[in-house]
Amino acid sequence: MKYTIKVTRTTKSRISDVDFDNIPFGRLFSDHMFIAEYINGEWVNPRIEPFAPFSINPASMGLHYGQNIFEGMKASVTQDGDPLLFRPEMHARRFNRSAARMCMPAVPEELFLEGLHQLVGMDKNWIPPREGSALYIRPFMFANDEFIGVKTAQVYKFMIITGPVGPYYARPVSLLAESQYIRAARGGVGEAKAAGNYGAAMLPSKNAQDKGYDQILWLDGRDFKFVQEVGTMNIFFVIDGVVVTPSTEDGTILRGITRDSILQLLPEMGYKVQERPLSIDEIVNAYHKGTLQECFGAGTAAVVAHVDKIAYKDLVMELPKMEDRKVGEAVKNYINGLRAGKIEDTKGWIVPVKMEATVG
Ligand SMILES: *Cc1c(COP(=O)(O)O)cnc(C)c1O
Repeated sequence: MKYTIKVTRTTKSRISDVDFDNIPFGRLFSDHMFIAEYINGEWVNPRIEPFAPFSINPASMGLHYGQNIFEGMKASVTQDGDPLLFRPEMHARRFNRSAARMCMPAVPEELFLEGLHQLVGMDKNWIPPREGSALYIRPFMFANDEFIGVKTAQVYKFMIITGPVGPYYARPVSLLAESQYIRAARGGVGEAKAAGNYGAAMLPSKNAQDKGYDQILWLDGRDFKFVQEVGTMNIFFVIDGVVVTPSTEDGTILRGITRDSILQLLPEMGYKVQERPLSIDEIVNAYHKGTLQECFGAGTAAVVAHVDKIAYKDLVMELPKMEDRKVGEAVKNYINGLRAGKIEDTKGWIVPVKMEATVG
């Protein structure tokens, strides 16, 4: 099915106000936004409008009962200025898996992708040209029935907003392995990009920051033994020459698209990779033996964020210095190279933005 998206262009672009050398993360939004509504069992009125605040009823269910999901992805430009998306259909599918877990309606992949292409195409001048910079894209959906009472909503709003971002997490991050609070348990919603997961992490994250750590390394919700992930990143360790990342089949870990990409790339680069349960004890033992070589987070925002320190109970593990962070650097440079159009895409991960779709 092909959707017809009604386009209303802004009469006053704000782009000339933007200093692309100095982009404040997450505070700057492009000229347009995409909106569609789910009413009476179908998605209706898909449209692109000037980015602006909108009103909702104070009884809007999404404000009260947490049927609220999102995605995070990026558009980049080649040296010739052609806009690119990275594995957009994977984001569309994951969005719908999050929706299913939260008992929300699926957004048809064609609608998600059509809206995405048209919106990014219209605002392509907002994609910062510098390598490592990008246009951050935030698709989201929330329940919008005007009803007080806990039930599955019947009315939803799906939107996409975008904004330019500079390079993220330039310096390595420090992690605190958390032994009091949990992020996700078996049977819960850890695997969904559901807004509530992030609200639940705010207090423990603030506590960690008060102790001088950037982020929490989450441990499993039953025994505080197995490593899960970090903030909005999946986690990789290099132990004695083998790259290890926690397996995701128990449903507590967000299935990152960066994680998936790295897992495909590493064997081709000659690295040995394992997806399996990984305990904090194994990491501590490796540290004492001198075989804990590298640790990095992987997610759309940073691509790769090196970790320089991990605290667990009374132990502070300092990781080897920059020149030894070979694995993380290699995959980061590769993915950034693909996004900049400098490395040939042999996997079909890079999707040019359909520019002909912008006439509307
Ligand atoms: C978004 C997210 C990730 C990373 O996923 P990507 O698809 O690589 O961006 C990892 N963990 C959590 C909790 C996330 O929300």
